[in-house]
Amino acid sequence: MTISELLNYDKNHIRHPYTSTSNPLPVYLVESANGVYINLETGEKLIDGMSSWWAVIHGYNHPVLNKAVENQLQKMSHVMFGGLTHEPAVKLAKKLIDISPKSLQKVFFSDSGSVAVEVAMKMALQYRHAKKQFRKNEFLTIKSGYHGDTWNAMSVCDPVTGMHSIFKESLRIQNFAEQPKTRFGEKLLQEDIDNIEKILIAKHDKITAVILEPIVQGAGGMWFYSGKYLKELKKLTQKYDVLLILDEIATGFGRTGKLFACEYAGIEPDIMCLGKAITGGYMSFAATLETDEVANTISSGEPGIFMHGPTFTGNPLACAVANASIDLLFSYDYLKKIKEIEIQMKQELLHLKNNKNVADVRVLGAIGVVEMKEPVDVAKAQDLFVKNGVWIRPFGKLIYIMPPYIIEKEQLSKLCSAIETVVSILF
Ligand SMILES: *Cc1c(COP(=O)(O)O)cnc(C)c1O
Repeated sequence: MTISELLNYDKNHIRHPYTSTSNPLPVYLVESANGVYINLETGEKLIDGMSSWWAVIHGYNHPVLNKAVENQLQKMSHVMFGGLTHEPAVKLAKKLIDISPKSLQKVFFSDSGSVAVEVAMKMALQYRHAKKQFRKNEFLTIKSGYHGDTWNAMSVCDPVTGMHSIFKESLRIQNFAEQPKTRFGEKLLQEDIDNIEKILIAKHDKITAVILEPIVQGAGGMWFYSGKYLKELKKLTQKYDVLLILDEIATGFGRTGKLFACEYAGIEPDIMCLGKAITGGYMSFAATLETDEVANTISSGEPGIFMHGPTFTGNPLACAVANASIDLLFSYDYLKKIKEIEIQMKQELLHLKNNKNVADVRVLGAIGVVEMKEPVDVAKAQDLFVKNGVWIRPFGKLIYIMPPYIIEKEQLSKLCSAIETVVSILF
């Protein structure tokens, strides 16, 4: 097929994420990807500003990760996990338990972030079932969150920007506290805590768990909030007998400047979800970690077993590449590199605050966000970014970058200057 035949067939038959079939946004045909570059069939080499949605932390086509997949492929690409186990899975479980908050002692593998969230929510419900606290079956979260596109995950996504309006007849409506206003690093505003405590006071006997993204709310608005908020929230969950589920699917593996974002608050969750960067972006995979207390309680109740088991749980290829990706991360001073990315993005993006069309600019770890006052025309912006040799995909009012950690100084400068160019041309 020629390039135009491929694109035409795509346009007529494939649904891309969040698009219309009758009026799809343009897509670009990728030939290959290498390091920080995405290479288009039409010849352009684009510097990747997205890490393919937080995942490709070491860059594309990495020799070490390729080797891990190839080696595992020679042994087996897959085997069922019911009644069988294998070294890559055991090694990965040990690595995750060793590097995550120490009270997390059990791992459940699944195939995507949304499923890891479903699993976490199911655990919180089975926990109450085992304790015969049948009335505690609702969830509490904060506005502007994002936890995935499956049914229960969707019920805790932001009620406005999420899909509640379309699905409200059949979707369980959960409890939403206001988004914490206290910015990252700032003095905690008491109203933030009062706001969520108010709901806990009124409804704690109906709430099994609080679920939220620690420090950085990703796809719900790229908001960075205070670690002190999380610290206070942890105390509240203990006071009101509510579990704490931290969704570190986007923040995990260094992105915010700590290995896990909850380290900024010095707290440990009861349940934690990991995904996205877990395989270095090589394939879809996720994990839900739980404390012994949660696991043992579920095991002590009826039916005593955890009611979940995806066909591809514990996939050996994914486990092998996840092991290699985590080893690769620890093979160099990744936190220093992420700090350098942060400092450079601050130098090269923060001045855009002076632009009259820009509402806010914020940078944390390897995440840089320019929030416009008006929505960005995605098709036009994408086209301009490609012409400027970079891959950046805005959503809503947000133009943001979260490059692979291997990005070099000049490459990062190109991403930042492309944002400046697009802001000046489009607004
Ligand atoms: C992306 C994301 C998910 C969903 O993960 P998928 O792999 O897309 O299903 C859940 N929670 C957070 C915080 C995410 O960023």
